[in-house]
Amino acid sequence: MSNSKLTDRFGRTVNYVRLSVTDRCDFRCVYCMAEEMTFLPRQQVLTLEEIARVAKTFVSLGTEKIRLTGGEPLVRKDILELVREIGTYGLRDFAMTTNGSQLSTMAEPLRKAGLKRLNISLDSLDPEKFASITRTGKLSRVLEGIDAARDAGFKGIKLNTVVMKGGNDHEVPDLIEFARKKNIDITFIEEMPLGEISEHDRGQALCTSDEVRDIVRQHHDLMPTPEDSGGPARYYRMSDSPIKVGFISPHSHNFCSTCNRVRVTVEGRLLLCLGNEHSVDLRRVLRGHPVTDDKLRQTIIDSMDLKPERHHFSSNGDVQILRFMNMTGG
Ligand code: SAM
Repeated sequence: MSNSKLTDRFGRTVNYVRLSVTDRCDFRCVYCMAEEMTFLPRQQVLTLEEIARVAKTFVSLGTEKIRLTGGEPLVRKDILELVREIGTYGLRDFAMTTNGSQLSTMAEPLRKAGLKRLNISLDSLDPEKFASITRTGKLSRVLEGIDAARDAGFKGIKLNTVVMKGGNDHEVPDLIEFARKKNIDITFIEEMPLGEISEHDRGQALCTSDEVRDIVRQHHDLMPTPEDSGGPARYYRMSDSPIKVGFISPHSHNFCSTCNRVRVTVEGRLLLCLGNEHSVDLRRVLRGHPVTDDKLRQTIIDSMDLKPERHHFSSNGDVQILRFMNMTGG
């Protein structure tokens, strides 16, 4: 039973918040950002104290799970201070999504600061392909980062792979073998139409979760399990490995009816849905009411009425949401 005081018009309880801590990133993944990006000026970005106020207020409203994301959360200066602070809030789950490029030095401090789980993005095991997808990333650093996360004792590590037809779909078997060998879970994601991109046609590149499952099944059995990590993924298991294989399928298996999440951008925009523009300006409330959190609390409660029933991503590749994922907080 959830203790959340946040319920929307459709009876869904919100107990999971994704907080973006920066719009900046050291990678420029082709499906996530344009090559030349303009980032937010500093005064528009929430301070770490403001982000912590938002987190604490959500926790007071029954939030049980917080994920820090971005942009790349590990490029935010003093991120460990925020992790340390949120680590004291007694969350059931406290996670971060990262590209892994800095984990070789940051994994252990993050663990010591109270972070419980890590999602690490990994779209390719081929150094050249990896460099072309991320535009600026180096595969070896990410692989070192994955090992560092395991060495630091993180139990809940998960890999995230966005699968693109004609891009990295041929690597699905290798990625599965890698996850099995490292004994870490892996989730395959359908690309979402967020922000205008130039590198590929999203409609043509869409590789559905059904197609990915077919690829995996050429090598392994895959059985659905009702296990749930409190997020949008549906999970499968193989009979000869302890790892879970997840699928996030915004196009082919809409996950809106069980949505329990909201996002807060680093500008303090509370986004009620990944695939809609509905938002509430929390920064104005934070800065207009610096002493107590009553107004912030009430604004968050009232915002639940704005949560849309569902997103309407079409799979033809048309852009429906102008925000890039780095702004949204993936
Ligand atoms: N920098 C971190 C990282 O690389 O994981 C966190 C932010 S990133 C925006 C979070 C996740 O969103 C990554 O796994 C990335 O692959 C995914 N992502 C970005 N743009 C996407 C899109 N258009 N469709 C689906 N997933 C996307």
